[in-house]
Amino acid sequence: MKKIQMVDLKGQYQPIKEQVNQSIQEVIDTTAFINGPQVHEFQKELEEYLNVKHVIPCANGTDALQIAMMGLGLKPGDEVITADFTFAATVEVIALLQLTPVLVDVDPIDFNIDIEAIKKAITPKTKAIVPVHLFGKAANMDAILEIAEEHDLFVIEDNAQAIGANYTHKDGKKVKTGAIGHVGSTSFFPSKNLGCYGDGGAIFTNDDALAHTIRGIVNHGMYERYHHDVVGVNSRLDAIQAAVLRAKLPHLDDYNARRRASALKYTEKLQDHPKIITPTICGTACDCHVFHQYTLRLKDVDRDALVKHLNANEIPCGVYYPIPLHKQKAYADDRYNEADFPITNKLVQEVISLPMHSELDDEQIEYIVTKILEFID
Ligand SMILES: *Cc1c(COP(=O)(O)O)cnc(C)c1O
Repeated sequence: MKKIQMVDLKGQYQPIKEQVNQSIQEVIDTTAFINGPQVHEFQKELEEYLNVKHVIPCANGTDALQIAMMGLGLKPGDEVITADFTFAATVEVIALLQLTPVLVDVDPIDFNIDIEAIKKAITPKTKAIVPVHLFGKAANMDAILEIAEEHDLFVIEDNAQAIGANYTHKDGKKVKTGAIGHVGSTSFFPSKNLGCYGDGGAIFTNDDALAHTIRGIVNHGMYERYHHDVVGVNSRLDAIQAAVLRAKLPHLDDYNARRRASALKYTEKLQDHPKIITPTICGTACDCHVFHQYTLRLKDVDRDALVKHLNANEIPCGVYYPIPLHKQKAYADDRYNEADFPITNKLVQEVISLPMHSELDDEQIEYIVTKILEFID
């Protein structure tokens, strides 16, 4: 059996090695290291893939979120609602821009931002909602868009974990996550579903004026050479990373399909256990989930001991996330009331994420499942 890894970047590289190497070599041969043709072509290809009018590449997924918020003109003191159960980058940029983060609880079934909790958190100062399509599963966008419309709020999708996921609107229309709200962001961190070989990110929007504003912000607030109209940042997608992404984008749907197939296999073998809750899968044709993580909830199981048992058997696993954001030192605040976070407070104690990537094979899944059940039974 191949050694089990949380992500297998080398295994994914092998079959596309020639394309990747050639693409990188082209950047070096042309010395177009900054904003060259590879970056431009990747932007076009991703716009087409996502069916979105504008992709603005940038340096990483955290910058993408920050720039999206700057582009919308959010001002210090504006309240931004987001999930308590997510990676810290989401709340970090809100705080960094001196906006007021308003963390709310999540849904116990799909781990995404809870709709009733959003409604409860809205005040006259609320300006935006940031749903995170956590672990690769699309959030309930119809409900979020409805709330946003009613209260005149922006919707900023943190799509760092869900690139390629589909969302089906109530009317049956299918769209890609990230291209649904006013603006969306993603990360090309190597372990993400579409990862480059370093840092990278992008912002998406269908709004022409917002796209124009954002294109200036990523480039020092410059709309005309050496005319700086707004305070911007320097955030570029490296041309070599764009070259890697161009070689990988045509395979994204296949990578995601393979992740989904592995998720179905895990679920088939684990779903009947009374101490395990497997993640939501909407049927075998499920396309609203691209399984950035395959995350179980454990009931009456000593999680630390299970992690040790798996590690002792050379099975890596992860706990995403062990601490709710409202309890992190940087983001704790008297405004928060423990009674408002029953689900997140429980999830942080129950979740465990299993190895998940496009190269996982049946033998490995079988072995992982056997070792889990051997411990829990
Ligand atoms: C990875 C991630 C980010 C940040 O992306 P970077 O490219 O590492 O800056 C933001 N939000 C979520 C939910 C993420 O998983």
